[in-house]
Amino acid sequence: MAAQAFDNRDGWIWLDGEYVPHREAKVHLLTHALHYASAVFEGERAYEGVVFKSREHSERLHMSARLLGFEIPYAAEEIDRVKAELIKKHSFSNCYLRAIAWRGSAQMGVAAKRDDVHVGVAAWEWGDYFADKMKGIRLMVAPWRRPAPDTAPVNAKAAGLYMICTLSKHAAADAGFDDAMMFDWRGQIAEATGANIFFVKDGAVHTPYPDCFLNGLTRQTVIGQLRARGIEVIERAIWPNELASFSECFLTGSAAEVTPVREIAGLSFKPGALSEQAVHDYAALVRRKNA
Ligand code: PMP
Repeated sequence: MAAQAFDNRDGWIWLDGEYVPHREAKVHLLTHALHYASAVFEGERAYEGVVFKSREHSERLHMSARLLGFEIPYAAEEIDRVKAELIKKHSFSNCYLRAIAWRGSAQMGVAAKRDDVHVGVAAWEWGDYFADKMKGIRLMVAPWRRPAPDTAPVNAKAAGLYMICTLSKHAAADAGFDDAMMFDWRGQIAEATGANIFFVKDGAVHTPYPDCFLNGLTRQTVIGQLRARGIEVIERAIWPNELASFSECFLTGSAAEVTPVREIAGLSFKPGALSEQAVHDYAALVRRKNA
């Protein structure tokens, strides 16, 4: 049976201050965000009814909006409250949440009216982002590169930046891979299409410095956990010709959590002890209430 489309489900969505039935949470065709990608969003997970790093996500939503030149008319505390209420309203335990803010229909052209801002929050039950994630996933090299910081607002979790992610993820799926690893505009390794990337070499962890992609909340959490265990984490420029020197690789993201990688474009990695440790430490932390 085909999965139920996302606009055809039961439940509630919070839209501009009100709970509306899920199927009625609609926007008009002439919406600035649809035409010009003026939307910012968050992907979050709740565990046992509690959103992991809810405040950090709400604050990042505000920051992303500011980077696109608009202000969200609801405080981070208010968005946190809505997320908690939505979970209760649906009696969800483990779920995914999507908060989004976008420019509306007041003006239809490249320029937009600055205060025409809408906000919505939805929640749904969702399992692992990658099937069989503990087996390790397979990445190909993406046909698109992360843009330079003077080419796009690279620190915003903004809809427009996902154009190249969708193209890359589709290219990976068409070639039989689970996801794609993107280089940045310099040719350095950057991240996957919806998650940050880490490598292991001689007991130390190496990860690209996030100067042209999201410094993920999961990335920051996992770096903290690794360091707390006394494992050295080195943030630096990583070039593709170093790939063969790494023994393990894993991805991090709110949706992906910690996902081991077993292959990048023909090169094999062992989803080894360090990756497994990271998977388990993250899983334990997110289930500890109010972590
Ligand atoms: N990079 C991209 C492109 C992403 O979409 C995500 C998921 N939000 C991440 C990195 C990881 O960010 P986080 O850990 O905050 O979810």
